Amino acid sequence: MNKAYLSEILETRKEDFISISKDIWSHPELSLQEYHAAEVYTAFLRKEGFHVETGLNGIETAFSGTFGSGRPVIGVLGEFDALDGLSQEACLAERKPIRRGDCGHGCGHNLLGAAALAAAVAIKEYLKERGSGTVIFYGCPGEEGGAAKAFMAHDGAFTELDAALTWHPESVNEIVSGSCQASLQKEFKFVGCSSHAAGAPQKGRSGLDAAELMNLGAQYLREHLAPGDMVHYCFTNSGGLSPNVVQAEARVLYMVRSSTVKGAKDVLRRVEKIAEGAAMMTDTTLTRRFIDGTSDTLPNHTLERVLWKNFSEAQLPAYTSEEWSLAEAISATCEQDPLPGSFCHDDAEASAFVAKASENGTRALNDFLIPYVPSKRLRPGSTDVGDVSHRTPTAQIHVACFPAGTPGHSWQLTSMAVSSIAHKGMLLAAKVLAASMYDLFESPELLAEAKTEFHCAAGEFLSPIEDGAVPTLPGSEF
Ligand SMILES: [Zn+2]
Ligand SMILES: [Zn+2]
Repeated sequence: MNKAYLSEILETRKEDFISISKDIWSHPELSLQEYHAAEVYTAFLRKEGFHVETGLNGIETAFSGTFGSGRPVIGVLGEFDALDGLSQEACLAERKPIRRGDCGHGCGHNLLGAAALAAAVAIKEYLKERGSGTVIFYGCPGEEGGAAKAFMAHDGAFTELDAALTWHPESVNEIVSGSCQASLQKEFKFVGCSSHAAGAPQKGRSGLDAAELMNLGAQYLREHLAPGDMVHYCFTNSGGLSPNVVQAEARVLYMVRSSTVKGAKDVLRRVEKIAEGAAMMTDTTLTRRFIDGTSDTLPNHTLERVLWKNFSEAQLPAYTSEEWSLAEAISATCEQDPLPGSFCHDDAEASAFVAKASENGTRALNDFLIPYVPSKRLRPGSTDVGDVSHRTPTAQIHVACFPAGTPGHSWQLTSMAVSSIAHKGMLLAAKVLAASMYDLFESPELLAEAKTEFHCAAGEFLSPIEDGAVPTLPGSEF
């Protein structure tokens, strides 16, 4: 079997994967509650002859589908969670929630999971013929909150792999390179006692005061952080709605970021001291709980080159005049980036190419492939793909599924994540992932090179996840 046949399989069966993507879009589920998605995927995988395992690492909606046997073992990562408040009518260039307040696929994970699944199903046909080698589709819940991959990696998942590939729907076609920040989240609860704020203030002890003092302390900490380290926070409970009551309880969620997990742990240790000081100052009781964390991303240039080769050889989608019109209408509601793409900025030649191809960011669809720029640069932001990248050589691509300028986590993105433009991008992603997996199965020297690079860069794995922690969403009682 050759690579072209993989593309043919995907073309022939594209309606299967589009219909899964539409189904997930129509049934948006929040992080760690993706029961419908898990059901749809596992049923499909079983029907396709994959061996399915559910409830991976104690996470109800985490699952895997394995096909084949023996080495090499290549993993492909799928996500399927949605975002709160981003319900939106399909393919509409104006804000119109299907149901106000409902969640929606504002990050395009309906596409992400379906293309990864499609690539695994296509490569299955190749493995049948090859007779040895294994593909594992990982159903990874809670990317938007919960960081399931990080919990799975903490418990040893992904070490069985020779390499892992994934993608993310975006508004550009590019190879992802460089690194992302490590992150840690912890929630702090301060409990005092309530009383009449005017009548008996001396009897009250304010949890809200403690949380505010903690936040003030964090502002003073900022001056003494290493460059690039970050501290963010939000209230998950600010007490109550009556100012004439001393607020007995308040909760605040902290997220810290650094270039490494060790750096993030150092920052969090200092934040914890601030919390302890705030409790002492206010005579309140402090309780804390670990929420989640992610590792920095370890780039693997060997795998990135494999993805680049196959992306360069793939036929990029052509768009109809209706698709251009819809893209223009959506783009008009967004702020355009004069130089789209995340990695071209460091390279003068790539920047010039993108400026020209995107007509300085005025083209409504970025219907071109951005030249590959290998990078080790740290980008702001975090992903639990980072934890996979510390367990096995890992690489990913961005594929254009949305009009230029579509912000992540927006109603515009939900609107477009079920459009024919998005489905074309999804199919392209599946083709590039499948063709790249084919190369890895066919060329042991590529995998060996990827592993050597991985072992030189990785060092000992320091998980961001605290021992004994389980995936938790902030805001609930504790
Ligand atoms: Zn997202
Ligand atoms: Zn996402």
